[in-house]
Amino acid sequence: MPVYDQHVHTYFSFDSSAQFEDYLAQTEQPFVTTDHLELSNPDDGGGDDKPDFAAYQAKLKVLHQQYPNQLLRGVECGYFAPRAADLAAYLAAGDYDLVLLSFHHDGQYDYQNPYFKTVDQKAHVQAYYQRMLSGLKQANFGDVLAHFDYGLRVLDVTPAQLTAWAKPQLLEILRLLVSKHMALEVNTKSLYRWQNAPLYELVLPWYQQVGGELLTLGSDAHTPDKFQTEFPAAKALIKRAGFSQLAVYHQHQPTLVAF
Ligand SMILES: [Zn+2]
Ligand SMILES: [Zn+2]
Repeated sequence: MPVYDQHVHTYFSFDSSAQFEDYLAQTEQPFVTTDHLELSNPDDGGGDDKPDFAAYQAKLKVLHQQYPNQLLRGVECGYFAPRAADLAAYLAAGDYDLVLLSFHHDGQYDYQNPYFKTVDQKAHVQAYYQRMLSGLKQANFGDVLAHFDYGLRVLDVTPAQLTAWAKPQLLEILRLLVSKHMALEVNTKSLYRWQNAPLYELVLPWYQQVGGELLTLGSDAHTPDKFQTEFPAAKALIKRAGFSQLAVYHQHQPTLVAF
C-alpha cells in the first residue's frame, strides 16, 4: 500500500476553494480530504463552519464514477472545549475513515493571528499545550493529532525554548497519544511554509521514546499546487528521526506502511 497525503482541503472548507478534480489529476493513489469542522471560529466571525456531509457523500459518489482512485472520507475537527458535545454530535452523524484533531483557536483568536506575536511567548506556548492536553484528555474522537506546532507557527520558537518551556507537557501529550492509539501528524506546511522542521526533529524522538509508532504525513494543502508538498524531504526527516513506517487510515484503523 502506498503512502499518500492525509491532510487536504477543498471547497468544503471555509478557507479553500480547491476542487477535488485538481487533486485527483495528480494521483492514482487512495485520496482523502480533511475539510474543516470548526465551531465558534474566530477566523469566520465566530461562526460555525461545518462541511455539508450529505453534499460531500454525493460528490464522492459522482467522483467514484469518474476516477479509479479509492476515495476515502476524512475531516479536520478543530477542538474547542465549550463545543465538544456539538463536535461529537456532528462526527457521529457521519461515517469517516480519518478524523484529524486540531487545536486552532482559543475562542477569541485563531492561533495564527499575529496577535500572538505580541504576548509573552513562554506563557503562550504553555497555555497552548495546556489547551491541547486537556482537549486530548476530554475528546473521545480523533485518529490523528494534526500539526502539534500550530499555535507556534507565527512565532519563532527555537527547539531550546520549546524544550525549556514545554517538554513535560509535550511528553504528557505524546504519552496520551500512545495510550489513545492516536497518530502524530508530520505536517509539511508546518515544516516548510512555517519553517518548524527543527521542532519536529526535536519532538519525533520524544514520541519514539514514549513508545509512539503511529505517524501520518499531510501537506495541509488548501490549493491543488500544495498537494503532497515536499513529501520526499519530509520522509527523509522522518527516517532520520528513526521511523521506517507511516500510518494510513481506513475506517479509523491505521495500517503501517514502509516508505
Ligand atoms: Zn489545521
Ligand atoms: Zn488543515
